[in-house]
Amino acid sequence: MEYKMEKPVHGVIGTEKYSCSIEWRNGNFISDEPAKTGGNDAGPDPFTLLLSSIASCTLITLRMYIERKGWDIPSIVVNTNMFKTIQGDNISTFIDRDIYFPYPLEAEKKNRLHEIAQHCPISKIIEGNTKVRTFVYHEEDIDKKIEYSNSDITVVWKPELCKHSGRCVSQLPGVFNLKTKPWITMSGATTETIIDQVKKCPSGALSFFYNKEEKNPPSRPR
Ligand code: SF4
Repeated sequence: MEYKMEKPVHGVIGTEKYSCSIEWRNGNFISDEPAKTGGNDAGPDPFTLLLSSIASCTLITLRMYIERKGWDIPSIVVNTNMFKTIQGDNISTFIDRDIYFPYPLEAEKKNRLHEIAQHCPISKIIEGNTKVRTFVYHEEDIDKKIEYSNSDITVVWKPELCKHSGRCVSQLPGVFNLKTKPWITMSGATTETIIDQVKKCPSGALSFFYNKEEKNPPSRPR
């Protein structure tokens, strides 16, 4: 198992209604609730983010396909919205995706692009077998750690934060190997290579410090 994102999306909320600071790999933005639900509408609400995700994924998927085909289609427009129906205990959610091609386009190409749009990766996630796993960390769990050292650095592994994504094991098996004891062999690669790999741990289970420095590995959650 390997996480899709090298760096997790990181969200923090304080007491200001309902401004959430969302950090992604290359920046950050605010998510909020609209005024009617008590927020300040300072950024997209969670439903809007979901609909935005489908819209952008659809547009990118179509653009990539069009590029591969070499078709001349200067722009594409996608609108997304959602509603739900309730019948007894049965709640169904429908997401509508409307695709427009502002410039004239043959019906055959439109039909093909209609098919392609339905297979965009985010559509597949939403319509597929998706489970949301939720972990709550307690102070004592976060504090549990095991250390592995070479002459330069000490790698700190926090087992309770390890989501077993397997990224370290598959990418640097000479160091991270579940079949050996201990499972981290610090002589298996150069210090720089180990540092690079530690930085790729998606859950924060791995961190490191230089042996000459004070022990101060980053704590989670931030
Ligand atoms: S330490 Fe990090 S990269 Fe390695 S298996 Fe655990 S979560 Fe994945």
